[in-house]
Amino acid sequence: MATAAEINELKEKVAEACRVLARLDLTREPAGHVSARIPGTDHMLIKARGPRESGVRYTTPDDIVEADMEGNIIGLPEGLASPREIFIHTWMYKKRPEIGSVIHIHPPMVVTFTVVDKPLLPIYGAYDPGSLRLLLDGVPLYDKSVLVNNDELGEELADAIQDKEIIMMRGHGVTAVGPDPAGAGINVILLNEIAEMNYKARLIGEPRPISDEDIASFKSAGRRTGAAGGGSAWETYRRMVDA
Ligand SMILES: [Zn+2]
Repeated sequence: MATAAEINELKEKVAEACRVLARLDLTREPAGHVSARIPGTDHMLIKARGPRESGVRYTTPDDIVEADMEGNIIGLPEGLASPREIFIHTWMYKKRPEIGSVIHIHPPMVVTFTVVDKPLLPIYGAYDPGSLRLLLDGVPLYDKSVLVNNDELGEELADAIQDKEIIMMRGHGVTAVGPDPAGAGINVILLNEIAEMNYKARLIGEPRPISDEDIASFKSAGRRTGAAGGGSAWETYRRMVDA
């Protein structure tokens, strides 16, 4: 059972991930929520919505509430409500016992690629091996543009992501998972990076995927992205945006 101090620490990590992603302009306010599974329980901590909520970029631990895996908020503070799309989180945790965090957010550049028939291509390697690996691992598309606001849709989305680390949602956003909020957050940042570069490449010409041989060299490295704590990159982003 997590202690009160551990819960508070986890609340701060959830709030921090909200602030970092929003300050990197990876969502339109106030859309987006980060959650973390409370270790050893079937409860989570999640960014709440409602009249008293802070914007995603200003999230504090006071905006984070506890919920069960049916989406019920425990002891909901006045002025806060559960996100309507809490079913994204409940179903990811139910279907993926290995994950510790879920992030649903609306990064504009990634959303742009969900609304055209232009795939994200593996156009670079050494520039950013992490985002290349994330793409090569497979990034599924959830083809509906509706709010995921009930159990049926939540389960459908969780089935659609399979065992991957991030899924694009058509005309909507992304849902990323990871061992903790920083690890899931890095997955959002990496996917956005390769989307930005694909977009820029299309502005000036026809993007050219790197060779199969080069792709194989990155695949064979085998390391998955979104490591616990987000690696050193997360700390850099956190400091960069003063979150
Ligand atoms: Zn959404």
